[in-house]
Amino acid sequence: MTEKKAEASLEHLRRVFTVPEGEDSALAAIDREISRNLAGFLREHIVSEEKAPSKLERDFMESALPEDPCFVSEQAKFLLEKVVAQSVHTASPAFIGHMTSAIPYFMLPLAKIMFALNQNTVKIETSKVFTPMESQVIGILHRLIYGRAANFDDKFYRRWIQNRDHALGVFCSGGTVANLTALWVARNRLLAPRGDFAGISEDGIMAGMRAWGYDELVVMVSKRGHYSLKKSCDVLGLGKRNLIMVDTINHRIDLDDLRRKISEQKARRAGIVALVGVAGTTETGHVDPLEGMAAIAAEHKIHFHVDGAWGAPTLFSDRYRGLLKGIESADSVTIDAHKQLYVPVGAGMALFKDPAALDSVEHSAQYIIRKGSRDLGKHTLEGSRPGMAMLVHSGLHVLGRKGYEMLIDLGIGKAGQFAKMIQSSSDFELTTEPELNLLTYRHVPLYAREALKRAGAAAAARINDALSDLTGEIQKAQRAKGKTFVSRTRFELPQHHNHPCTVFRVVLANPLTTRQVLGEILDEQRETAERLLSGPVGHKLRAACAAVN
Ligand SMILES: *Cc1c(COP(=O)(O)O)cnc(C)c1O
Repeated sequence: MTEKKAEASLEHLRRVFTVPEGEDSALAAIDREISRNLAGFLREHIVSEEKAPSKLERDFMESALPEDPCFVSEQAKFLLEKVVAQSVHTASPAFIGHMTSAIPYFMLPLAKIMFALNQNTVKIETSKVFTPMESQVIGILHRLIYGRAANFDDKFYRRWIQNRDHALGVFCSGGTVANLTALWVARNRLLAPRGDFAGISEDGIMAGMRAWGYDELVVMVSKRGHYSLKKSCDVLGLGKRNLIMVDTINHRIDLDDLRRKISEQKARRAGIVALVGVAGTTETGHVDPLEGMAAIAAEHKIHFHVDGAWGAPTLFSDRYRGLLKGIESADSVTIDAHKQLYVPVGAGMALFKDPAALDSVEHSAQYIIRKGSRDLGKHTLEGSRPGMAMLVHSGLHVLGRKGYEMLIDLGIGKAGQFAKMIQSSSDFELTTEPELNLLTYRHVPLYAREALKRAGAAAAARINDALSDLTGEIQKAQRAKGKTFVSRTRFELPQHHNHPCTVFRVVLANPLTTRQVLGEILDEQRETAERLLSGPVGHKLRAACAAVN
């Protein structure tokens, strides 16, 4: 690259703070290649063999602060060899294991523009037009969710979309912070000012519980709720054990158990901060009965939050919107833009039905986010934030509702197709039916399938444990090979005596994933299974099956 050594000098500083003229930097070359052909670029640079984490760590063991500067070209060389080449090809059509997937090409130059402008949306003085743009994006998505409810008409949105004092929602880094924000608002509204008690923000949680006569504070969600809710209970001072897990029927919340548990909580003098419905569970993509939950929440005057981090964009689709019926009754909704709005990580939103809801968490300071200002930072948990709204705004316009609708319909349609492929094979078992664009399945050799049919609960448990080992091994081997990727998870399967089983988990969000790719994934898993079954995993499975006779 260069024989000359970089020196700490004003000249070096001037150079790194100025866009290079004429001469092309090594980074610009990578940038150009990635923009031209991401798939080709990554294929060329991604090593197919998985490196053990300890091997990856070897290049990152140095703890001494780099004393002298280096040239950008030297750093670029390091990045290309040690970082880009060891990153995960999330844009690959065969990478169908997680909610992180391909993004439309225009997001790439937009992200660059966003970082080049380096706006800070905490306050209008550092973001100017990014402030109303962000509010508009929030307004559009708020209307997507609530626009069908009574009174959420043009007039409502004209009044609130750019309101100085109230907000329809907040932007944040993702679903976790969105859920936390929603529960923060719910908690503060439950422990509202009363008598001498000036509200939880001022007087704290202990004073709030005394003022309202609560011995505990709880949040309720089905067993399939996202782990971010546990984190939120921790951060908000409720405690993780006060996230009450409600039983499920077919991976959706059991409303009878919900009613029972609400009574139990009231009996122990617990304040119920929120009832959380999931619109698209992270593991299986199921949607809770939101209408039924909304009715129960209304009856008991509980804040109803819908975690639609994954599934809320289903509302774009005329065909599938009905699956989320009841979401318009939610007091708050989480939606992740870096999932099904196809913007890069990380962007999420918490939306609130009542434009005054966020008043309960309003903060101000003298030099920033002044009272009465338009500053977005008044209502956000985070302080400095990037102008991600520009990317969401662009996605909404370039793709439009109809574009997003196609993406949703394609994904759900493909999940149905893949489910059929699995069901029509003799050696794969569909473990959860897709409702949205997620499904789970596992490899079950024919003899194990036969044995499971005849086995009692105890024998079946042993077979299922052996199958779980097999599923785990296949998934790891597939990941290591690096050609295709599905993830794995573990939960109780009602069709197998509620035994916890490890299953493959698939998320079909990449529009370029074809039927052929899906077929290849099954073929690869079948081949891997054959190889593994001749080893210890196979021995364990055959022994468990033989015990049935
Ligand atoms: C992804 C997800 C979250 C968390 O979102 P992050 O963006 O990863 O913080 C929360 N809930 C559900 C249902 C999710 O799918």
